[in-house]
Amino acid sequence: GPAPESREIALDWIASHKGRFGLFVDGGWTPPASGQWFTSTNPATSEALAEIAAADASDVDAAVAAARKAQGDWATLGGHGRARHLYSLARAIQRNARLLAVLESLDNGKPVRETRDIDIPLVARHFYHHAGWAQLQGSELAGYSPMGVIGQIIPWNFPLLMLAWKIAPAIAAGNTVVLKPAEFTSLTALCFAEICKDAGLPDGVVNIVTGDGATGELIVGHKDVDKIAFTGSTEVGRRIRAATAGSGKHLTLELGGKSPFIVFDDADMDSAVEGVVDAIWFNQGQVCCAGSRLLVQEGISDRIIAKLKARMETLRLGDPLDKCIDMGAIVAPVQLQTIQTLVEKGQAEGAELWQPGWAVPKEGCFYPPTLFTNVAPAATIAQEEIFGPVVVVMTFRTPDEAIKIANNTRYGLAASIWSENINLALDVAPKLDCGVVWINSTNQFDAACGFGGNRESGFSREGGLEGMMEVLKPRFENTLPAYQTT
Ligand code: NAD
Repeated sequence: GPAPESREIALDWIASHKGRFGLFVDGGWTPPASGQWFTSTNPATSEALAEIAAADASDVDAAVAAARKAQGDWATLGGHGRARHLYSLARAIQRNARLLAVLESLDNGKPVRETRDIDIPLVARHFYHHAGWAQLQGSELAGYSPMGVIGQIIPWNFPLLMLAWKIAPAIAAGNTVVLKPAEFTSLTALCFAEICKDAGLPDGVVNIVTGDGATGELIVGHKDVDKIAFTGSTEVGRRIRAATAGSGKHLTLELGGKSPFIVFDDADMDSAVEGVVDAIWFNQGQVCCAGSRLLVQEGISDRIIAKLKARMETLRLGDPLDKCIDMGAIVAPVQLQTIQTLVEKGQAEGAELWQPGWAVPKEGCFYPPTLFTNVAPAATIAQEEIFGPVVVVMTFRTPDEAIKIANNTRYGLAASIWSENINLALDVAPKLDCGVVWINSTNQFDAACGFGGNRESGFSREGGLEGMMEVLKPRFENTLPAYQTT
């Protein structure tokens, strides 16, 4: 196959910052007030990539103050003015696509084929799309004003894409932001900061503060932040909801999932098997809407499982920069440990584990694609989000039973239905308690389409009109027609 993508482009960029990244506040780089730094590592090789600033309370104060200072001018710049900035950010992302794709792959461990073909194009698409929304300020969005300063906290599974989902709508609407990337994957957010600067975005509109959960808590608790937008685990989401209760802060939560992938006996089986590969092994299963529960109609379950095992044998796992591989590394040793612990629990509770015969690289954070059969509905692995390349199989007899099993978790993010009978699929879809349903497909995202969950998967939508409504507030006094005021 082709040679692995060269890592030089990303290592050169890191070297241009002397391997050390301060905080991006008010359009410039500042060292952390505490003098504390942490290391970002490549999970495929365990090599250190860069030193990242750990922001403390005074750093967060400075970032929020910069965002507050910039917000008025940014809002009064108007929709067309902001749209020009979003378009130029989108174009700058495309110009830097190769650097961003390699950097994301090195920092996160995900295959460069995915960052190149999925993450980065979707990031650019998000900015292009939201440039359009900015222009609707005087028309469709008349009567709405920005919320002000938004604190944004994101996870490590799609570092730059989650940044785009947060920043593009927020700044399109006239807000300014303080964003904290996850501690394992800060580098593309910092590269994006540099792109903002080079593209001429006004200082203070986008501020990037790095650090772990403690820095996140400081943003959540800051008095001068108008809204918190969080994507991450349900556990942390619950804490943030409690911490913001009664504060008057707006809040959006995009949390975990345990999404069902339902295959009826009339489905096109080969397509469904490819769908499973995408649903649970894309990004090593570290996907909030991963189809981690495979529900198969009884009559076809042996055949589907046999086909799936054969397909698993052909999956290639290895160097994320190798464009021929299907699966890369798990983000960090601690996440690998979580996966191992849950898999052991699955076996201890009586489920049957199956993994392909090929060997997994010994160095680096790798975990093979894993299939569990004979899974009890109440088993831990059937209920808890594993956030790794592990799928559990359960069978059902009737559509009603499929719906019952599908809804039998505390989550409600996404679902995928596979059937050649479109009436059946359209009958089942609205009965699934979740935010997104795909029919004969999976993992379809678009900037124009609101994405988000129900129940313990959160209560917000990102993308499209629904996403814009999360970063705007109604301004009723300006919406009254003239005749009502006389
Ligand atoms: P996490 O909750 O551990 O961390 C997410 C972010 O929150 C990180 O930046 C972290 O530093 C920060 N954080 C941690 N503790 C905090 C605290 N007390 N206060 C404020 N911030 C804090 O989640 P993760 O492991 O990074 O990401 C995986 C999770 O994210 C999974 O559960 C996944 O399903 C979810 N996720 C959801 C969506 C969605 O759109 N619904 C998308 C991607 C990921």
